[in-house]
Amino acid sequence: MPETHLPQIWRLRDQRYRLEGAQCAACGEKIFPAKEICPNCKGDQFTPYVFSGRGEIYSYSVMYQAPHGFDKDLPYTVALVKLAEGPIITAQLTDIDPGEAEIGQLVEMVTRVLGEEGELGAIEYGYKFRPLLQS
Ligand SMILES: [Zn+2]
Repeated sequence: MPETHLPQIWRLRDQRYRLEGAQCAACGEKIFPAKEICPNCKGDQFTPYVFSGRGEIYSYSVMYQAPHGFDKDLPYTVALVKLAEGPIITAQLTDIDPGEAEIGQLVEMVTRVLGEEGELGAIEYGYKFRPLLQS
């Protein structure tokens, strides 16, 4: 792999590892993933915002088929996760049996390898969510 690709990979990995989105400078809306225009006030000035990675299951579905490279974990659960800060994102659940997920269940982000070959020819990381262990 040419060295010139490395900074791009690092940026990508950083964004996924940290669940980094943006906060609108005008209205304070927290957005993930970052967008060009604030969906709340149409502002276009943002500061980076790192989400806590905590949230709750808003809805979910169990997947029995998957694209090549994702099929070794079948079946798996994909959820809409409502982050503690407000945005709803789609993510795969992990450390949970199919059918065990419940709406309203508290979850937290973990970082897992998604596939061995990403589009950049490197190991691709991404976020998943697992049930939050209550103490
Ligand atoms: Zn805004």
